Amino acid sequence: MFRTALRHSKADGLHLGEEPIPALAPGEASIDVLAVGLCGTDTHILEGNFPSADGVILGHEVCGTVREVADDVTNVAPGDLVTVEPHKYCTECTYCRSGEEHHCVNKKGYGVKLDGGMTTTMVAPARILYRLDPQTDPMIGAMAEPLACCIHSVDRLDPKSGTSVLIAGCGPAGAMLVALSKARGLTPIVVSEPSEARRELALSMGADLAVHPDELDSAEVSALAGEQGFQSVVDAVGRAGIARDLLNRIRKGGTFLVFGVAAPDDVLALPPREVYDKELTIVGSIINPYTHERAVSMLSSVPLDRIPTRVFPLSEYEAAFEAQRHGREKVYIQPA
Ligand SMILES: [Zn+2]
Ligand SMILES: [Zn+2]
Repeated sequence: MFRTALRHSKADGLHLGEEPIPALAPGEASIDVLAVGLCGTDTHILEGNFPSADGVILGHEVCGTVREVADDVTNVAPGDLVTVEPHKYCTECTYCRSGEEHHCVNKKGYGVKLDGGMTTTMVAPARILYRLDPQTDPMIGAMAEPLACCIHSVDRLDPKSGTSVLIAGCGPAGAMLVALSKARGLTPIVVSEPSEARRELALSMGADLAVHPDELDSAEVSALAGEQGFQSVVDAVGRAGIARDLLNRIRKGGTFLVFGVAAPDDVLALPPREVYDKELTIVGSIINPYTHERAVSMLSSVPLDRIPTRVFPLSEYEAAFEAQRHGREKVYIQPA
């Protein structure tokens, strides 16, 4: 049996080709991929800014139907609709042994260092597959992955209900953060976002106010947030200049969450005296430790269907990546 797969080589870029479907090893399953989301990580890989394996099949936000399972697999069966938690951990390093698998020194991501979902048939360990309600829209199923990352970031922020939050950036992940903040009882939820369409998305996801970044000093914002600023501030953009501005908007005792992925050489100037005086807490958040199952549980309660999407067949991968760069919608490839 053959599959079509989109592989990324460092020398030649993307290449779509036919290849045999790998034979299943013990514990593995094959999945007919119905939807695979593109995200910033994929773009960073194409630009050479993210460590990936040469020749890898891209795609780590995956939803599909189980095609076949190895004899010893019991958690999923052919025909099940599943989403993929796209990481492989070594289980032996100090992080794996202390409940921090996501910091594993030998961590490998499917679609980054291991073959991922931009193929008609993906092969993966069955233990990283999560069954979905069969009625789930495959694009919503594929959103379990970014939603799991957002759930982890809210865990890291650990805000008290009834406290204020400012979220900068309302792309698909920012929109999920808005919805999770709402579900957590945060109020007011203010979003800073230059795109009008994304400001409207923020409001539809539960924000109380969405403003252009130039209007963060407006009376409207301070009327909601109070003179002292926000208890929680989230950088969902990933740029030091924006982060610096956001730090000025945190109240004393507040928490700053770095969620967006900044360029490695982008430097934030933060005087220790400022951290001292304001008793700031600064937290980072990376990927999705033990949150994929919770994301699956929340798929139907978070209004993910309000995030605008655009769909391409696998053969139109170039147009899909182009659309991803423009960033107007959440872009999906439907290989099957
Ligand atoms: Zn991603
Ligand atoms: Zn490890």
